Amino acid sequence: MRCLIVADLHYSLPQYDWVTQLADRFDVVIIAGDHLDLSSLVDLRAQSVVVRKYIDLLRAKTRLITCSGNHDLDTRDMFGEKVAYWVSGLGQRGVPSDGQSFKCNNTLFTICPWWDGPITRDRVAAQLKADASKRTGAWFWVHHAPPDNSPTSWGGDRHFGDAPLLEWIAEYSPDLVFSGHVHRSPFTKGGSWVDRIGTSWVFNAGHQFGAPPAHIIVDTDKQEAIWISAAGVQSVRLDQPLTRPVPALGAIPSWAILPDPAGGQNPV
Ligand SMILES: [Zn+2]
Ligand SMILES: [Zn+2]
Repeated sequence: MRCLIVADLHYSLPQYDWVTQLADRFDVVIIAGDHLDLSSLVDLRAQSVVVRKYIDLLRAKTRLITCSGNHDLDTRDMFGEKVAYWVSGLGQRGVPSDGQSFKCNNTLFTICPWWDGPITRDRVAAQLKADASKRTGAWFWVHHAPPDNSPTSWGGDRHFGDAPLLEWIAEYSPDLVFSGHVHRSPFTKGGSWVDRIGTSWVFNAGHQFGAPPAHIIVDTDKQEAIWISAAGVQSVRLDQPLTRPVPALGAIPSWAILPDPAGGQNPV
């Protein structure tokens, strides 16, 4: 199974175009939250209408999975906690999203919403507990905020991660966790796009402007994850211990080279 993982597209239409044009190369495409941009001049509702159109295009080409991020919250629930109503509604459009899980090739994916308060947080805890009993093979989580105290949540002067997620990872040992949220982590000293907590691998591709977005390609058959960004290409083997510094590759391995939608080959 080959997966493309991005996050924090923040209403960058060139980045959505790029993901859409290459989506059919992957068995699964994961967008790990922050579709919208709270600082944009474009009204949030109008942004979500445009992004939903991209999501329909993506869904027609591949298995798309997505969760909400803190920029996606568009309403309050009955308890007064902010939620991304439009993201949780994607489940009805055939896109596994907030609060849902699904199995693909004996891999269980659990998709967590952004939690804004204790009730949603407890709901995530209950969701993970319930899904733990459904696990028969690998277990992958999609959770916008990376775990706290991890290089994947390092912002340069402190961590911006999620403390409960760290506890949940320790309790359940998922195989892979896909996050985003802390845009600078992979690009700053002391930060990284990848971490290992116990036996779990944790990823945050980071954020860069323009296409292509910083992205991660995971190939479960090759047991390899590759990070491709303006800062270079790095790779880890999922069946080996994590070593730092993470090995930088001089070029994208041939199996992971994507065609450039504009022609030629995908530039790093
Ligand atoms: Zn973001
Ligand atoms: Zn975020």
